[in-house]
Amino acid sequence: MEQTVVIIKPDGVKRKLVGKVIQRFEERGLIIKEMFQQTLEESLVKAHYAHLKDKPFFNEILEYMTSGPVIVMILEQENVIQIVRKMIGTTNALEASPGTIRGDFALNASENIIHASDSLESAEMEIRRFFS
Ligand code: ADP
Repeated sequence: MEQTVVIIKPDGVKRKLVGKVIQRFEERGLIIKEMFQQTLEESLVKAHYAHLKDKPFFNEILEYMTSGPVIVMILEQENVIQIVRKMIGTTNALEASPGTIRGDFALNASENIIHASDSLESAEMEIRRFFS
């Protein structure tokens, strides 16, 4: 069965949105296979966002993602990667549709509540990175 990695980012945890976000996934029929809470090490965030290392906002991301605890989980279901990406909405929450997690709970491109793997390849890599 297909699996994806979801991270409820520090702003989501601080704003006490964990229950609401998880409820959406459960109601959709997705299965929580693993879940833990942790404040991420900077090295882990650097590896996770390596594709953005040349962006001017990379340091901002590192500070944001290490600023407090996150919830990391593995969700499982057929086509779960595509389903969850649709449920979270576009990266820039300003453009995210109402009804999506970012569209309902976030306001801008940086602090956008949630991460989800964007491909089979990144899901496999992220499962290894966060759960081995
Ligand atoms: P996604 O999280 O939708 O997969 P990216 O991998 O492109 O998108 O970006 C990773 C994270 O980096 C975003 O979720 C957001 O927290 C941050 N980010 C992306 N673009 C910007 C930006 N223009 N300014 C500030 N932070 C950004």
